[in-house]
Amino acid sequence: MNKFKKSQELFDEELKYLPAGTTSNARLWHNICPTDVPCAIFAKKAQGAYIWDVDNNKYIDYRLGFGPIILGHSYKKVVQAVHKVEKNGAVYALDNENELRLAKKINKMVKCAEMMRYANSGTEATMTAVRIARAYTKKDKILKFEGHYHGHHDYVLFSLAKHIKKNLGKTPIPASLGIPKNINSLVFAEEWNDFDGVEKTVKKHHKEIACIICEPVAGNMAVIPPEPGFLNHLRELCNKYDIILIFDEVKTGFRLAPGGAQEIYNITPDIATFAKALGNGYPISLIAGKKEIMELVGPGRDHVLHGGTYSGNPLSMAAANATLDELQKKEVFDHLNHYGRKLMKGLRDIYEDNKVDAIVQGFPTMFQSLFTGRDKITNCRQGKNCDINYFALLQGELLRNGIMLDEDPEEAMYISYSHKENDLNKTLELFNNAVSKIKKVRKTLIKF
Ligand code: PMP
Repeated sequence: MNKFKKSQELFDEELKYLPAGTTSNARLWHNICPTDVPCAIFAKKAQGAYIWDVDNNKYIDYRLGFGPIILGHSYKKVVQAVHKVEKNGAVYALDNENELRLAKKINKMVKCAEMMRYANSGTEATMTAVRIARAYTKKDKILKFEGHYHGHHDYVLFSLAKHIKKNLGKTPIPASLGIPKNINSLVFAEEWNDFDGVEKTVKKHHKEIACIICEPVAGNMAVIPPEPGFLNHLRELCNKYDIILIFDEVKTGFRLAPGGAQEIYNITPDIATFAKALGNGYPISLIAGKKEIMELVGPGRDHVLHGGTYSGNPLSMAAANATLDELQKKEVFDHLNHYGRKLMKGLRDIYEDNKVDAIVQGFPTMFQSLFTGRDKITNCRQGKNCDINYFALLQGELLRNGIMLDEDPEEAMYISYSHKENDLNKTLELFNNAVSKIKKVRKTLIKF
């Protein structure tokens, strides 16, 4: 029986109207498709820790919309807060009191957030952050890391995990057609956790480098934390050479801890970008930073332009205020961390019992299994040695049995506050079944 029949029918039809049959390249799946053309799962609804597709398959959801759902899908207090304001209009393009309330909260929670501006997506936020850094330093180039993703605007769309080969030079690799060639020369792409590599480039080119931008815990090449001292090293280089340090906390923000990765590592960037978990699913992003730098944003040709019809809209403001009210309660993060720790440990035990070479890397609210004999993976090139075929088999088997992970091994697994003990037990049972089954059949399977 084809469990994804309706999704596939809809996808075939969608191909006629939406290029590649989807509205985001990241939503194309390969494993469940009957042909060698990728396809997509069509969702029907999501509630709490669960998501249903149009074929009425129910899954415990560990994709959580690529991370935004920190409290649970349709979380009551967030939905109620949005309903309360929506009858008063969806967009004013005027200031409203809720954006001030939210700013005061964020200012208390996030160390670098002396001043801030709202936007709607992570892409917009990093685009604006890079512009501010360029304006402030009066320099043009950026230094990013291989495998780090900062959205789909031209300035940062280089050297993504998919395009990195094990042994390749450090030339930045554009990830899309249509990026002007000249932009290549504005980007340095370094290996994550390469203390010396970054230092060398910075020493040589600091007069041209406006910012170092990184995900403080990399979440777009599975999950790869910084090595001890690495963020500090970046901070010191930036201080020394008049470079702006940007933490892209679109994934880590309000997810690893109420104050983001900067709280965990106790390193304050000059600017940080947030999105995803800030709105528990409603579209919002944030550019936050030191007052002296953020004050450069404003009107006139001697300032940085930032705007957006939907920026600060009342619905997203209501959602974010309600989300942060919940995330500031101790019991919420206690639960998230407790659940995540137990799941990470449970998975490690399953792999060990079944003699699978694997590690589970990351934080309790955002982690991933990597199929490798190493005891840790510290950069994107090492990640290329992991067994992605094993991941594909596991993800497919779990999907068919009611657990949704993303199909891309470079995504993370995420936890929400709505995941409860029975979900944990069910998840471990299904992982155990899947791993045991793969062990039996693996040798006979075709590699894909
Ligand atoms: N930065 C990071 C770290 C991300 O993971 C993403 C999206 N996955 C973005 C930026 C872009 O965000 P958006 O998709 O909202 O534009």
